[in-house]
Amino acid sequence: MTLNGPMKTLISSDQIQQRIAEMGHDISQDYRDRNPVLVGVLRGSFVFLADLIRAITIPLEVDFISVESYGSQKNSSGVVRLLQDLNTNIKGRDVILVEDIVDSGITLSYLIDNLKTRGPASLVICALLDKKERRQKEPGILKYVGFTIPDKFVIGYGLDHAQQYRNLPYVSWVEEE
Ligand code: 5GP
Repeated sequence: MTLNGPMKTLISSDQIQQRIAEMGHDISQDYRDRNPVLVGVLRGSFVFLADLIRAITIPLEVDFISVESYGSQKNSSGVVRLLQDLNTNIKGRDVILVEDIVDSGITLSYLIDNLKTRGPASLVICALLDKKERRQKEPGILKYVGFTIPDKFVIGYGLDHAQQYRNLPYVSWVEEE
């Protein structure tokens, strides 16, 4: 499946890498001696997570969680289902939930509520992109944000359209025709 209309680069590969270096530096300072668990939300966050952990210079662990948000591709319905759980016991651990993009906030709110019941020592969110204008639910502490972007459907750098385009090294959007 392909998209109609010309693709516009919103955030270049260089801009992404530069911002991730800053975020990795901040996390390394904030979590020194805490051995945080970085939890990637599948599937969109895996590219970001892979680059982010290599910008972090302190010991850390990585795990993944997978959720499905019902609704059309562009709008969450508010119903979220856990598809694949963590392998790590996060009780007493410092957890950083790593997301590709926060849109309505519904998916992350569900995840935060779910993970909180397991008694982590701390729980914060690290998102590459934030579509602030679209927020319906504030999903707890959005501590690290790469870029705030306008209300456009974006693809690339892990983000898909019908499972395609995740491999683009930059973030793009499609101009409506
Ligand atoms: P929320 O529950 O915050 O509305 O939605 C979060 C999820 O919706 C993201 O993890 C992502 O999978 C998907 N999503 C939201 N906006 C976009 C977008 O602009 N492009 C893509 N590819 N996915 C998006």
